[in-house]
Amino acid sequence: MDSKKEIVDRLRLAFRSGITISKDFRYDQLSKLRAMIHDNEEDILNILHKDFAKPKFEASLSEIEMVINELDYAIMNLQGWMEPEYVSTNLATKFDNCFVRREPLGVVLIIGAWNYPLQLVFSPMVAAIAAGNCVIIKPSEVSAAAARLIAELIPKYLSQDCYAVVSGGAEETKALLQNRFDHIFYTGSQIVARSILQAASVHLTPVTLELGGKCPCLIYGSVTIEYAARRLVWAKFFNAGQSCVAPDYVLCSKATYDALLPAMSEILKDFYGEDPQKSPDLCRIVSQQHWTRLTELLKKSNGTVVIGGESDQQDKYIAPTVVNVAEDDALMKEEIFGPILAILIVESMEKAIDIVNQMEKPLALYVFSNEDFVINTVMEKTTSGGFCSNDGIVHMTLPGLPFGGVGASGWGSYHGRWGFETFSHRRGCMMRGWALEKLNGLRYPPYNDNKLSWLRWTASVKRTCLLM
Ligand code: NAD
Repeated sequence: MDSKKEIVDRLRLAFRSGITISKDFRYDQLSKLRAMIHDNEEDILNILHKDFAKPKFEASLSEIEMVINELDYAIMNLQGWMEPEYVSTNLATKFDNCFVRREPLGVVLIIGAWNYPLQLVFSPMVAAIAAGNCVIIKPSEVSAAAARLIAELIPKYLSQDCYAVVSGGAEETKALLQNRFDHIFYTGSQIVARSILQAASVHLTPVTLELGGKCPCLIYGSVTIEYAARRLVWAKFFNAGQSCVAPDYVLCSKATYDALLPAMSEILKDFYGEDPQKSPDLCRIVSQQHWTRLTELLKKSNGTVVIGGESDQQDKYIAPTVVNVAEDDALMKEEIFGPILAILIVESMEKAIDIVNQMEKPLALYVFSNEDFVINTVMEKTTSGGFCSNDGIVHMTLPGLPFGGVGASGWGSYHGRWGFETFSHRRGCMMRGWALEKLNGLRYPPYNDNKLSWLRWTASVKRTCLLM
């Protein structure tokens, strides 16, 4: 097997040959990636079921369709994205061609998390290929069957000179990170992100961080409880709450709480039946370690379990659970990342906004209300990676919207054109000829005030618009 350095060297050689630059090559590789997913859809769905009993329905939506949509969007828009972007000139540069050229960065590394093991490496890979880079992907070792399938399929479909998969966990990733990359795109926890940054700092490598945190859901004003409960339950328990954008905690008034809770109980029965453990539509916790972390967290909580609470270690099962907690509860101290929803009764929307703003900036923020005033106030007085009113998770399915965090929930973004930009260098280019030498000559010594005032006039941005 190739050593990690050999793999990086091989890809760097291919990048320097210029093979990834042409539009045709990018189209070809994106089409092959599409064919790979299409041809192996059944296997992909089966291995995701093997890893953590991911329902095929959920896997089709979140792992197959999300990636196919990214691919189709990139294939449809690539030509336009690659075009130079012309900018306005001033009087001194009137006859010059001034444009932004998107150039590939080189050899990039994509490190994935386990919860959507294909989407989290393939979606950024689509953007990196579209932008003309060579790519190494390092899927999460936790979703082991998915990681094996990815390592088997990529070399069968894509250029082995330009794309590679490195398997393994923390130690392998650390070894891989000793090499120089032109960009590192990391999805995972905030703790590991710090070591990624340390490794990147050695080579001054730019980094995109797609992290997590606690995503709040504020429910205020009048609200259609049945719809709110249904969308909240779906967004929370999709993938058994193991989504970076899953609602982590709810803030609402006592009156809303009293109406919401029975509605959520009813909807959980509609979705998963009387005994959710028997439902084929509820995913399992990915590993014993994560199961233990979640059940320990539940034990540490001083809150009241108001829905669910049952668990079965053998089956890595935790029932959809809702816990009524106080602000200082253990469940409010870390990202839950499982099928446990914390709910806090906070009478005023303003106080709820304060609670959100005292915590790290979230990856996603949700507000449920029938009132525009409530939705707009929450949007204006908070910040988050993404925002969605009256639903959860759905905002991340649109390739037109940037997906990423802010502050501790992540740096940078991707999806659609945003991913292409992440993996491109924007090179500012000015193509000058020899025109207007007299005017340009004003900058040369010997300097005088007259020259300075003419120069100021020619370079003024106020006159730029006249020359568009
Ligand atoms: P993780 O940080 O444990 O692992 C992520 C990746 O880093 C894996 O590939 C792993 O092998 C590697 N890794 C682990 N330890 C390492 C180390 N010491 N040095 C170098 N690499 C190391 O995260 P996870 O448990 O796979 O994912 C869960 C977290 O990811 C949650 O916080 C979740 O919110 C977040 N997440 C974010 C997004 C997003 O798009 N923003 C998506 C999914 C998950």
